[in-house]
Amino acid sequence: MSRVLIIGCGGVAQVAIRKCVQLSDVFTDICIASRTKTKCDALAKELAPTTKTNITTAQVDADHKEEVVALIQSYKPELVMNIALPYQDLTIMDACLEAHVNYLDTANYEPEDIEEPSWRAAYEKRCQEKGFSAYFDYSYQWAYRQKFADAGLMALLGCGFDPGVTQAYCAYAKKHEFDTIDTIDILDCNGGDHGYAFATNFNPEVNLREVSAPGSYWEDGHWVEVPAMSIKREYNFEEVGMKDMYLLHHEEIESLANTIPEAKRIRFFMTFGQSYLDHMRCLEDIGMLSTTPISFEGQEIVPIKFLKALLPDPATLGPRTHGKTNIGCIFTGEKDGEKKTYAIYNICDHQACYKEVKSQAISYTTGVPAMCGALMMLTGKWQKPGVYTVDELNPDPFIAALDQYGLPHRENHHPNLVD
Ligand code: NDP
Repeated sequence: MSRVLIIGCGGVAQVAIRKCVQLSDVFTDICIASRTKTKCDALAKELAPTTKTNITTAQVDADHKEEVVALIQSYKPELVMNIALPYQDLTIMDACLEAHVNYLDTANYEPEDIEEPSWRAAYEKRCQEKGFSAYFDYSYQWAYRQKFADAGLMALLGCGFDPGVTQAYCAYAKKHEFDTIDTIDILDCNGGDHGYAFATNFNPEVNLREVSAPGSYWEDGHWVEVPAMSIKREYNFEEVGMKDMYLLHHEEIESLANTIPEAKRIRFFMTFGQSYLDHMRCLEDIGMLSTTPISFEGQEIVPIKFLKALLPDPATLGPRTHGKTNIGCIFTGEKDGEKKTYAIYNICDHQACYKEVKSQAISYTTGVPAMCGALMMLTGKWQKPGVYTVDELNPDPFIAALDQYGLPHRENHHPNLVD
């Protein structure tokens, strides 16, 4: 018996919501709230005849803490699932503290306006101190640890696939497969084809910011930063085939450097086709990825937001995307004095996802873990006051839930390594 407020009704949220209402014994009441209420109403109308979950909807602008507080106070949920955008993480966390409710999200905080002077000054200091220049990092949300602990509330950060499941895979490897882990390579392969020359699989603004940023990895206790897309490898992915992949900065590296401190190197690679890279470089070169507003014919526009309006909505890619994703982690390390290697991963089929929840596999592989993370919190399997990333929690019940609800894990005790 749980009441859950879900903020956001985009590609990922729609999958999470469709999965929640499949478990109506746990998710007895949900409120879908977003900036555009018509999207919430349409989904609620479609799902109502298929589930015992009581579904209500609401309009909320989660950039305004007071609006979120008022909604929480009137709906009285046990948990708020933030599946809007990373820009809203802090306002929603503040609202959860004020209205006394648990919190979950799928991506760590980054500001919408990266030119804002006080944020910019703190960011530049952080770049110097930590050695990586991504606009996002965990420090903003880790700063809430004491506040959530004191309030007896839990906040679960980044409970999608990567971050999220990849951190659970690391915790699982540490718990069951290794005494010490030497290296971790996280590999995110999307072998799907949607037939467009260029489209992003999740929110274009967040996605393009992430992949156009410098890459970085953790080595011997510090960050090594490299120019964007400058480290390339080829890898033969099971059920996908040979793909080019590129080293990116990714948020889970930061938490894993804390939870698996003995790891000498932690890297993240994502596959990209040449067409995607060519389009991205061109868009970047002409300023279309900029977040700085420009004045155009008397109107102020933000180039990357304008681009988002032109690109296909990721939520519409489902019917046209064919192929599979293969996402997971490869480890080297030691067990019982012997050197060993190990991989744990999931393979997901775009069309199978579409048949089940009308979405492509990228939204599916994020929305299912968000539902499973909520399930862990609501059923008490993960419930401790404070702010946590997935790698800090018991991976076993979470991986069992993923196995059951659509993202079964696979293992390989002799994987090909990335050089
Ligand atoms: P979409 O752009 O498809 O959806 C975002 C949703 O949030 C929309 O419904 C949007 O409303 C709503 N929203 C935006 N701003 C506000 C606001 N101020 N107040 C209320 N609602 C708002 O994004 P995705 O579904 O692709 O991504 C959702 C999240 O998942 C992102 O944080 C993304 O970074 C994360 N993600 C995480 C992954 C992981 O593996 N961990 C992988 C992929 C994504 P409107 O309809 O009005 O635009």
